[in-house]
Amino acid sequence: MDKAFKTDGLLLLNEAKTLQPELTAIRRDLHQHPEVGFELPYTKAFVMQKLKELGYEPKEMGKAGIIALAGGKRLGKTILLRADMDALPLQEEAEVEYRSKSAGKMHGCGHDMHTAMLLGAAELLKKHEDEIIGTVKLEFQPAEEIFQGSPDMLNAGLLENPHVDAAVMIHVTAGMPLRSGTVIVSGGGISSTSCEQYHITVKGKGGHGSTPHEAIDPITAAAHIHIALQEITSRELDGNQFGIFTTGRFEAGKASNVIPDVAEMWGTIRTVDPENELGELIKTRMKQICEGVGAAFRCQASVEFYDYCPCMVIDTQLAESVMGYMKELFDTGAMDLSIISGGKAGGGSEDFAFVSHRVPTVSMFLTAGSSNDGYIFGQHHPKVRFDDSVAYRGSAAYAYTSLRWLSDNGK
Ligand SMILES: [Zn+2]
Ligand SMILES: [Zn+2]
Repeated sequence: MDKAFKTDGLLLLNEAKTLQPELTAIRRDLHQHPEVGFELPYTKAFVMQKLKELGYEPKEMGKAGIIALAGGKRLGKTILLRADMDALPLQEEAEVEYRSKSAGKMHGCGHDMHTAMLLGAAELLKKHEDEIIGTVKLEFQPAEEIFQGSPDMLNAGLLENPHVDAAVMIHVTAGMPLRSGTVIVSGGGISSTSCEQYHITVKGKGGHGSTPHEAIDPITAAAHIHIALQEITSRELDGNQFGIFTTGRFEAGKASNVIPDVAEMWGTIRTVDPENELGELIKTRMKQICEGVGAAFRCQASVEFYDYCPCMVIDTQLAESVMGYMKELFDTGAMDLSIISGGKAGGGSEDFAFVSHRVPTVSMFLTAGSSNDGYIFGQHHPKVRFDDSVAYRGSAAYAYTSLRWLSDNGK
């Protein structure tokens, strides 16, 4: 009998709509108080307080995460809904009246909206708690931008007590020519690439610009290393493999007439290999080329790797179910990501990918501002703006997905 139970999507969407003024207020409050990484005292206190007001018993998890449970009165499975809470170390330049009050910090990825949306879902789920066949686990996560919050919460027991059977995340996007408020569901397979940072150091011997023969120039060596590295992708990888790396920062010297001691490069490696064998191959070859080319030019070159995030693996069956739920809820306001992406993985990485390697996972996007309406900047741009009037659609998507999936998969 439980299995046949079905939540009324239209009713839920209308209820979500009534929450919109509150969601706007929450989002703008958080937007004015951005915090970075694991240092989220204001945001954490805000979320704990709101959850308590709604009747939850939130618990802290890991370095700066929060967990709350809804349902649990009826026997069933557990579904995880995740929002990230951290901002970026970025100076806001957006023309909005609720600008960041913290210099050098900005909610430029929209995580303030994610937090507001999941708090909205928490309110909806409290209201419909008797309809929950199983448990909904709400996760408020820190440090997504440095790919450390998700693994930290996993290590702290995110997927147990109760054991999580499926996982859902939503990310807002701005700057796309799509109607604001559209929910886009990732299809099965790999939806975003892995990402790993590298830092190359080339040590030479500084000297006067007039006497290069008495110095060992690290800039020349670094330039040769940079060019040599390009041969990995052009000459060593199978044309059907996706493996790219980009050096985005190249620094050496301060004066035009001085040969510096050191040249440095920083960049990222991305692949769509869940086992990351390709990433490991690229790293091995980078190391050999750096050391070898550096030595050829009498320098000592080394490379170190850090902040790894795997590619996101979307569960096909779960994605198909959720696509159906979102069609029920939003009709033409929901679409399949493959229509936009052609089935290819996106370049941006997401640390919820760590969860996607452990339990069936689906990811969705909510368009929050169309480029046709003046929302021309994308995430991470200092001028990015988000249309927060559609936050209720994110709340409804979270709540409806969890209610419907638990009902379909009831024990
Ligand atoms: Zn981001
Ligand atoms: Zn983000």
